[in-house]
Amino acid sequence: MNAFVFENDKKIFAEELGPRLPQRIFDAHVHIFDKSCYPKGKTFGPKDYRTWLNGEFSQASWQACMKEMLPGKDVYGNLFGNPEAEVNRDISPKPDNDHIFAMALLSPADSVEALQRRVEADRLVGFKPYLNFAADFFKKPKNDVEIHDMLLPDQLAYADREGLAITLHIPRKDRFADPKNQRQMVEICQKYPHATFIFAHVGRAYFMKNIRESNVDELAKLPNAYFDTAMVNHVGVLSYLFDHFPAERVLFATDAPISCLHGKSVEINNDYAYLMADDVAIGTVLHDPARAYPFTTFYYEQLRAMLEAVPAGCLEKVLFENARGLFRFIAEKRHYI
Ligand SMILES: [Zn+2]
Repeated sequence: MNAFVFENDKKIFAEELGPRLPQRIFDAHVHIFDKSCYPKGKTFGPKDYRTWLNGEFSQASWQACMKEMLPGKDVYGNLFGNPEAEVNRDISPKPDNDHIFAMALLSPADSVEALQRRVEADRLVGFKPYLNFAADFFKKPKNDVEIHDMLLPDQLAYADREGLAITLHIPRKDRFADPKNQRQMVEICQKYPHATFIFAHVGRAYFMKNIRESNVDELAKLPNAYFDTAMVNHVGVLSYLFDHFPAERVLFATDAPISCLHGKSVEINNDYAYLMADDVAIGTVLHDPARAYPFTTFYYEQLRAMLEAVPAGCLEKVLFENARGLFRFIAEKRHYI
């Protein structure tokens, strides 16, 4: 495993981030995978971020990574697998329902019985569908997938019955600004009031237009709608979110291990790109082969933006209490603890 944190990063943490952060930090969006999740002999291309991780990011690697990234802090997390077609969805991270909570991966191809088996066997707090699973299952182009393709009525009814959480990476090209998404986000929250919907990456709004044209005000009125902030390092987007949505339902999240790479997401003319130190393929990357810029990690850029945007008195809630409270509540109700 490569080192995640370089000298420059250590200085940023020691001087700028560490002293301002609470002692306990909860990352509500972490991907865990090891070689057992993939078919035997699986290899990754030279620009794939998993090659840089030697093909795995196990729970132990996450914990080791957090020791480097957040030295001296108590780190908690909500973990799930990598949502890819070839990944074995029966393998979920192993939670203790104290520091570590976990979710199953879910495809529309999975029966409720299969889902229930995963949730019960591993004592999970919920599940994470993904648009690629729905695109494969319904043989649709990825951009045509709808929320209702990703989550089928019987899967949603199960989550509602059992009071589970669902981390949802919304589909479609216009993401949070897409009227069909907006309608379906409201619909699922209203129709399944005992399930909790955590819309990942602030509804994938990485630039202002996307959140300005969203229905965040409408979602603010629905008590089971939450957002995670994974990979959002845009102060404007986070500030807009906090101005329009209760901080009590915002969960700090990073999308580790991708957030451990060195780079930053930037708004470019009503769109965005990842500026990166390394030539690693994650979405649209502009990379810096001459190493002209002293990049730090996406992780630290996200913490910086959060420290800037979070309303006074809400830092501990967003970085720890909200997520810990939500997942503990689910775990207690399900008698895991
Ligand atoms: Zn993710």
